[in-house]
Amino acid sequence: MTADLLVHDAYIYVDRDWEIPSGWIAIKDGRVLAVGDSTNEPEAKRRISANGRLVTPGLINCHHHMYQNLTRSFRPVTNGTLFEWLTGLYPLWAELDADSVYLSTYVAIAELLLGGCTTSMDHMYVHPKPFLIDAQFKAANEIGYRFYATRGSMTRSVEDGGLPPASVVQSEDVILEDSVRLVEKFHDAAPGAMNRVALAPCSLFSVTERIMMESARLAEKHDLRLHTHLAEDPEEDVYCQEVYGCTPVEYFERVGWATPRSWVAHFIYPKPEEISRLAHAGVCTAQCPCSNMMIGGGSADLMGLRAKGMPVGLGCDGSASTDSASLWLEARTALLLGRYKNGPHSMSARDALDAATRGGAACLGWEEIGHLRPGACADLVIWQMSEVSLAGALSDPVEALLRCGPATAGTTIVNGVPLVENGLPNLPNLNDVLKEHMKQARRIQRLNP
Ligand SMILES: [Zn+2]
Repeated sequence: MTADLLVHDAYIYVDRDWEIPSGWIAIKDGRVLAVGDSTNEPEAKRRISANGRLVTPGLINCHHHMYQNLTRSFRPVTNGTLFEWLTGLYPLWAELDADSVYLSTYVAIAELLLGGCTTSMDHMYVHPKPFLIDAQFKAANEIGYRFYATRGSMTRSVEDGGLPPASVVQSEDVILEDSVRLVEKFHDAAPGAMNRVALAPCSLFSVTERIMMESARLAEKHDLRLHTHLAEDPEEDVYCQEVYGCTPVEYFERVGWATPRSWVAHFIYPKPEEISRLAHAGVCTAQCPCSNMMIGGGSADLMGLRAKGMPVGLGCDGSASTDSASLWLEARTALLLGRYKNGPHSMSARDALDAATRGGAACLGWEEIGHLRPGACADLVIWQMSEVSLAGALSDPVEALLRCGPATAGTTIVNGVPLVENGLPNLPNLNDVLKEHMKQARRIQRLNP
């Protein structure tokens, strides 16, 4: 059988327990057809040489807020705590509309592709105008990106004891109706889907109990995944004790979210027995190493969570906490953080890469991404690094990927299509999008045009 595309002369990290030091990977119809060593290369319509470089599955981003790239490094709030950042930025985000969300999603995906990320979720929880997630799907589909939208929501404004202004929160009925609308319009449960939708109330302190419970019920009814921020900040503990009379995790359990459908962002401050309980329930965690370190408020213990049976993926998070969206950087930082915390024997580059691939796939509940076994989605990266950075790194390309650097994607393939080649995005509209993004960012940051 003739493949559509053959990537050859590669060191292939196929999966956590399978590496091919000198091999090829054949792609057909958006799937991995076969992998092999340098003998018996199949015929292919197109061949791309990796020139001996490392090829891995595309990395998976399981926590992000793409719209926030419109307010990166916003000077008035850069030295705030998480809650200070959020309250400083919410009034700006109240200016979001479909155009700015389309542009920010387009730019976010371009950035993710350059950092080797082939599937991303997005947690879009600010809805000052309708149809913002529709605009995100427009951008993702134009690019040909594998996109997992999550319908975020907030109901509690400052008047109700929450953080955001009234202009960015919505009523319960509007949220629930729009959730069903988006699922019916975009969610594709089929293997190899390009569009999926999950339900994602912003956090325990920003929505009502009814939204949490109804989201869990809708997820059961439509077979969806659930996502939220959990145990991110000590102030959340104080809030939950005051309002609900329990810890954030106890409340999470009370509203019916401790199920294998759920993955949570951060999970920094649970009690040890709470980790065990959620791990046992099948909940996954998205660690966001750069965001955690930028906030300076602690981070989940990735290997510790895994030791308790909880799958952990990685996320780059949004610009309320960090301003870069490279999953390579998140994987390297996860490695640094793990070793800094628990010593040099605690974590290897392969552990970090596994979190960025299989861990992310577990968070998203997506079996056919995060590895390159035959039948997997044809989402992969040929990594590039300067010759200077790689000089002398001869014995272990997987360790070198995260120890040396910076690394970026030389080639990023999504669904069998190269979207980055020679280190450059294959996105003909990108320059125009960047110009418009600048205009929208200036408008939202209230800078002179
Ligand atoms: Zn977040």
